[in-house]
Amino acid sequence: MVNVKEIGKVINILKKESKKYNVPSATHIGTTTKDPFKVLISCLISLRTKDEITNKVSKRLFEKASNVKEMLKLSEKEIAKLIYPCAFYNIKAKRIKEICKTLIKNYNGKVPDDVNELLKIKGIGRKTMGIVMCYGFGKTVSIPVDSHVHEVSNRLGWVKTKNPEKTEIELMRIIPRKYWQDFNDLFVTWGQNICVPVSPYCSKCAIYDYCKRVNVKYSR
Ligand code: SF4
Repeated sequence: MVNVKEIGKVINILKKESKKYNVPSATHIGTTTKDPFKVLISCLISLRTKDEITNKVSKRLFEKASNVKEMLKLSEKEIAKLIYPCAFYNIKAKRIKEICKTLIKNYNGKVPDDVNELLKIKGIGRKTMGIVMCYGFGKTVSIPVDSHVHEVSNRLGWVKTKNPEKTEIELMRIIPRKYWQDFNDLFVTWGQNICVPVSPYCSKCAIYDYCKRVNVKYSR
């Protein structure tokens, strides 16, 4: 079991090292706009989509519609066209419209600043909720876990879990709260650039000495 001192060391190394790379799209949009609606929409767009595409199409979409009311004026087809070529652009366009309708109907057109209310909205799961709370509202209520956070945490040997939901629960148990705000950001950056899927760059990894490399069959 990893100890708190080691967690702190790894986080500090990642904080220093991750400055060499682009920040993940949710952090970028959160820090540049401080707008929970934009963080929410770009988080939906980012699913299974590279950050360069997410950033590009989110910008294009927000130039046409930067709030709930403006978004509802666009047709599903127009939204799909604006967010193309992100993955599942038609399904995501439909979901964006549905979420905007719910925001108007139940939340006065605003993204609710509340964990339970966010999770009541169809299409918002725990990861999206965590990202919106963390990077949209600046509140640390959870550790948002995507495939990168899940994989890096398991490879390090910090958790031994089968899916992101279980990883989130385990991480929230072992990671001191003071690291929650930056955790997703740092681990996503590491997962996108060094601890990449399939064949990670272990030979140039700054946290190699702290890593158990669990289930790493190939590396570069
Ligand atoms: S040593 Fe390899 S497996 Fe471990 S964190 Fe670094 S890149 Fe990932």
